[in-house]
Amino acid sequence: MNSEPGEDISLCPVCLERIPFHREFEGLEVYQVKQCPEHGSFRTLIWQGPPEFDTWRRPKIPAQLAYTETPVQRGCPFDCGLCPEHRQRTCSAVMDVAHSCDLGCPICYAGASGQGPEPSLELIESWYQALLLSGGGCNIQLSGGEPTIRDDLPDIVAMGRELGFDFIQINTHGLRLARDRAYGRALVDAGLASVFLQFDAVEDTAYRKLRGRPLLKEKLAALEACAALGLGVVLVPTLVRGINLDQVGPILSLAQEHSPFVRAVHFQPMSRFGRYPASLENEKRLTLPELMRAIDQQSEGRFPLASFRPPGCENSLCSFQGNFLLHPDGRVQALSQGHDPACCPAPEPAEQGALRTIARVSRNWAAPASPPELWAAPEPGSCSGPIPLDEFITLARQRTLSVSAMAFQDAWNLDLERVRDCCIHQVAPDGRRVPFCLYNLTSASGQRLYRP
Ligand SMILES: [Zn+2]
Repeated sequence: MNSEPGEDISLCPVCLERIPFHREFEGLEVYQVKQCPEHGSFRTLIWQGPPEFDTWRRPKIPAQLAYTETPVQRGCPFDCGLCPEHRQRTCSAVMDVAHSCDLGCPICYAGASGQGPEPSLELIESWYQALLLSGGGCNIQLSGGEPTIRDDLPDIVAMGRELGFDFIQINTHGLRLARDRAYGRALVDAGLASVFLQFDAVEDTAYRKLRGRPLLKEKLAALEACAALGLGVVLVPTLVRGINLDQVGPILSLAQEHSPFVRAVHFQPMSRFGRYPASLENEKRLTLPELMRAIDQQSEGRFPLASFRPPGCENSLCSFQGNFLLHPDGRVQALSQGHDPACCPAPEPAEQGALRTIARVSRNWAAPASPPELWAAPEPGSCSGPIPLDEFITLARQRTLSVSAMAFQDAWNLDLERVRDCCIHQVAPDGRRVPFCLYNLTSASGQRLYRP
């Protein structure tokens, strides 16, 4: 075992005060180790290669933010708004348009509890306006709570589109989309681009544990509804090692079958914030490299480890991403470069990476804009020879699948360098922008830094 000195800063998970941390390397495992003068020491697994931590990490050229709203007073992470210490612009802005939820999952990062009143349309408009004042140009995710409990959600989508936001997505469990086609139609007519769909498994045991009841039937109905409406869908599994890590391969197969409406699978290892069962408190952490290997193994190499790369925008330790072309005969072709630093482009300025990420997300996550007949799978055996160029271009445009994951940070593994690089910002009720992980951060006793 060896460790790395440095001035890295985290928080104490008990009192949420700033404390230094260092990384301990044990073979291919990396731990964050820190000590609070009052609450003792903490050691949390943050990486379990391969790939090796040092070959994956990327230097980042910080962005100079054109717009900041709050001064530096106590220092990161206590001055969010954004403050001038932040190093990345907003790529995705998350707005909680509903506090309550009609599902009440045992695991919920927001800890949604069903307490109203819901934000008024005037308040929501002020959030859009605040984003415009801070430069605009970002993608929007309407979240909660459960946004589809609002009958006026289409108005909220339309308002955002009228104010100039081109890509608006809802983050939903999908139950209303599954049963209420007119509601889905109204969302599409209002200009909704994409559905970020909670989708943890292709069997019900995992739904019972993670969501409190069987939901597969409703999830499949929601998928069908989105396909009929021409909505792009991102499947979003929350992964817990002992519950649904074995669902990674089956979910990818289902995504392939439902291409091109399923545009992406975005895995999220469970974080220790919001609401989660006490029984999972000591569950061994699922890290990004382990997830990349699970994807490779469970897909029998269709989505190989070597095709995943660090993000171009947020910190390299926060996520991975790969793009794939789905051939009609079931073959999967990686379109993305691997993570080997030797074959990766040099680091680019953060602003440039952000702009590319904003465009990539809206391109990869929205439904393809072409007539439905092009989406039908060709006859079996029709793809025996090389694909003609025009067909390849159509395929590349329509039948791509993006596979990605994001490792949120909680009070046990928080790294303020990663926080300052964050491009996914929650809009707080007063219009301030707060990095998503900080907004949801919960101490061991449930105390929060930002979420009301
Ligand atoms: Zn402490």
